[in-house]
Amino acid sequence: TMAQSKSLLVLENFIGGKFVPCSSYIDSYNPSTGDVYCKVPDSGKEEVEAAVKAAKDAFPVWSSKSPLERSQILNKLADLIEQDLEAFAQAESKDQGKTITFARTVDIPRAAYNFRFFASSILHHVTECTEMATMGCVHYTSRAPVGVAGLISPWNLPLYLLTWKIAPAIACGNTVVAKPSEMTSVTAWMMCKLMEKAGVPHGVVNIVFGTGAKAGEALVCHPDVPLISFTGSTLTAQRITEKSAPHCKRLSLELGGKNPAIIFDDADLSQCIPTTLRSSFANQGEICLCTSRIFVQRGIYSEFLKRFVAEAKKWKTGNPSDPTVNMGALISKEHLEKVRNYVKKAQAEGAKILCGEGVDSLALPPGNQKGYFMLPTVITEVKDESCCMQEEIFGPVTCVVPFDTEEEVIKRANGVKYGLAATVWSSNVGRVHRVAHRLQSGLVWTNCWLVRDLNLPFGGMKASGIGREGAKDSYEFFTEVKTITIKH
Ligand code: NAD
Repeated sequence: TMAQSKSLLVLENFIGGKFVPCSSYIDSYNPSTGDVYCKVPDSGKEEVEAAVKAAKDAFPVWSSKSPLERSQILNKLADLIEQDLEAFAQAESKDQGKTITFARTVDIPRAAYNFRFFASSILHHVTECTEMATMGCVHYTSRAPVGVAGLISPWNLPLYLLTWKIAPAIACGNTVVAKPSEMTSVTAWMMCKLMEKAGVPHGVVNIVFGTGAKAGEALVCHPDVPLISFTGSTLTAQRITEKSAPHCKRLSLELGGKNPAIIFDDADLSQCIPTTLRSSFANQGEICLCTSRIFVQRGIYSEFLKRFVAEAKKWKTGNPSDPTVNMGALISKEHLEKVRNYVKKAQAEGAKILCGEGVDSLALPPGNQKGYFMLPTVITEVKDESCCMQEEIFGPVTCVVPFDTEEEVIKRANGVKYGLAATVWSSNVGRVHRVAHRLQSGLVWTNCWLVRDLNLPFGGMKASGIGREGAKDSYEFFTEVKTITIKH
């Protein structure tokens, strides 16, 4: 009805410092109610063209500013996001389905911190210099921004992952055209409203909203965008690699995972169980770093399983804006169906579902009956070859299986196409190092999970990606290096 459409939030693209309406729009749903509540621009070639032009025009001035000037602007943007933290958190929770608690404590603080972190780290890089005394030469390297950076981000940690790209890109002096996920565009649009006040010059940050197939691909194929930083699925990354190949673009690809937790019989279960619960189900299991294969040494297998399932049953699933809720709604109806189908397939193969989907009943408040909810689900008696043990599910589903020896579990943990993050639980220091070294995984957490130092490289091996992000790694990705030799 007219009344309804009037109350819808309508987003606009942000190009050259101005909000620009689009000729067509996509519906965006509130995952916790199933209602359409927002219209997202359905941008294509034309809008991307305008954004790239604005970014190109802004590049000469922005790239010639000193790191300190850029740093001050990034810090100001961080201040402004922090001032509006509550509004951003509410919007992220409504748009994505995640709990308000998670948005308040993880997503938005980290989005602000991303700007603060790169505002600082950009001031501290040193380039290399070598001397060749016998030739009378010194060599040194200089680094310069590349140009217009194309940034594409997913829906699971919307503002968190988008700012993890925008911050280093502009700190290094590039200008950007970013495309957030069409399913979670609201907080990116809200951030655009802060750009002017933060002192970000027009055209330095441009945001084009729309689908991957239209807006995303137009960006990937644009000849004046020499680098693409992408976070999303492995399948999309293959497409982006193909489409960008004719232009020889520089790519950073942060992709999916099928992350193992390896729990030895000397693990401290009082720490391990609550952390593994979080690593399996935090953010509805929609974090690329989430655990979905739990290998438990046989001696403690039944005790672990009993305690883990008992704790999983205590997790409260429901209205994301209720601060006592642990798990909100999944991103979309289609995604919920996909996740549920994995559970069905496991069942058909003879696996056991110990709690959650199809086993326990989900009681939702009246306003959330049409939301995309499911309970934390634990699967066992599942074979390593099963799709539930091989493919990324990206939902609140985790498999628990026993193992006997260190040698065996390393082989099984490595037996998937992915290699993003692994956790190892043991009180034996020697074993922890040994196992960590042999896991095919870009990140290994031992006796903890998701503890990050943004200085250090983040990224995956195998089908989990190409390249790393972090203080030094992002600086190297977003700059072009040159070696200069001086003879005296
Ligand atoms: P997705 O690949 O479907 O979409 C990611 C982004 O790419 C979206 O903005 C989308 O619109 C865009 N896109 C889709 N097709 C495109 C195309 N042909 N050309 C250009 N852009 C295109 O991923 P998703 O479903 O939004 O996110 C979930 C995935 O992201 C999971 O696989 C998850 O593991 C992964 N992820 C990885 C990391 C990491 O750091 N490694 C972090 C978060 C999420």
